[in-house]
Amino acid sequence: IADRIKGTEKNVWVEFTELVSQENPVDLGRGFPDFNPPVHVKNALITAATDDSPFIHQYARVKGHKRLVTALAELYSPIINHNIDWATEILITNGAYGALHTTIQGLINPGDEVIIIEPFFDCYSPMVKVAGGTPIFIPLRKTENTGDVFKSSDFTLDYNEFSSKITKKTKALIFNNPNNPIGKVYSLEECQQIAKLCKENNIIVICDEVYEWITYDDKKHIKMASLPDMFNRTLTLGSAGKSFSVTGWKIGWIIGPVHLMKPCVVVHQNVTNSCSTPMQEAIAIAMETDLGKLRRDDSDCYFKSLAKEMQPKRDLAEEFLKETGFHPVRPDGGYFILVNYTDVMKKSCVTLDNSNEANDYKFIKWMIRNKKISAIPVTVFYSEGHKHLGQNYIRFCFMKVKESFLYKKRR
Ligand code: PMP
Ligand code: GLN
Repeated sequence: IADRIKGTEKNVWVEFTELVSQENPVDLGRGFPDFNPPVHVKNALITAATDDSPFIHQYARVKGHKRLVTALAELYSPIINHNIDWATEILITNGAYGALHTTIQGLINPGDEVIIIEPFFDCYSPMVKVAGGTPIFIPLRKTENTGDVFKSSDFTLDYNEFSSKITKKTKALIFNNPNNPIGKVYSLEECQQIAKLCKENNIIVICDEVYEWITYDDKKHIKMASLPDMFNRTLTLGSAGKSFSVTGWKIGWIIGPVHLMKPCVVVHQNVTNSCSTPMQEAIAIAMETDLGKLRRDDSDCYFKSLAKEMQPKRDLAEEFLKETGFHPVRPDGGYFILVNYTDVMKKSCVTLDNSNEANDYKFIKWMIRNKKISAIPVTVFYSEGHKHLGQNYIRFCFMKVKESFLYKKRR
């Protein structure tokens, strides 16, 4: 094993996907929908697959299939107030994972520090380390909660703490909005504060926005790149998998200024080189359809209807989990809900063995084997020094058909 990847062997998705396939529980762990993607998206793939142009079935343009980058430029230019150049300011990648890898490999030098806000999507830290960078972690802090439910917005960033972590070596911030796993959607004021610190300290922002269309209770998603003077220091990462509920299609993108895109293209041209052409064609067709609907303000535009469809699922999940004895943190966006599981554990008289594994892992393994229901441990979304902040929580995915949540009634 190459030295640079040592220490990154353990992976929660590998471990839990295998456990789920062995134990066959109701799978509320890994983040993907268990229902069909929209018909126009599936039809777009049929159209692409049966296209008579032989070129649809051959290698794509390295930076991305022209029809797709054109659609992305049209969709996002008005949203970020910048006339995106389809030829130089967009790169198509193998999902948002590919976008993260490409960006981090392209920009991070050994010794560079990269700020990561906790809880964070677990691959950020190993990706930074493999590039030779040092992740610097800042946890969201739980503020005094006044209502009867905890909300993801009760977890906030301490800007003094953020400032105190900035050094001469700070190169970038990885900013995930809406956040996986906690479902926080940063307000305009929060984004402005973060943008200000990044501008003052010449920090590049790697914005992971894969859940950009999924916000609840009329929360508005703010694109960092849309804030004044931010486009030039921001790379915006997106996912067709999450935008169109086709996580298996693995098409993602990076949008940003040419000086930051160039290193990304260099990485991409020597790694995957180009992404699947028919998949890009299909996403382009679907995106053109939804772009038209967005412009006409049609209610069935998938970018808008998805969150509306999801909101009752979030509410049902929260209600059901509360009834079961968990203490949920209500998310403002994304696919996931965190719950404190410790009372359920006590009530069910679960005794955890005294192995070295974190308690959230042990509890979920017990739940998978004994209750046939799966979730994802939350310590995986925290750095070594901050795992205690996540150890009493587990993450459920509610991007599921209603029946998955009526599990109790089924058994
Ligand atoms: N970032 C976040 C925050 C995610 O939750 C995921 C998983 N969808 C990804 C990136 C990777 O996205 P993709 O499936 O498009 O590779
Ligand atoms: N992003 C999804 C999640 O957080 C899936 C991640 C994965 O399967 N690797 O659950």
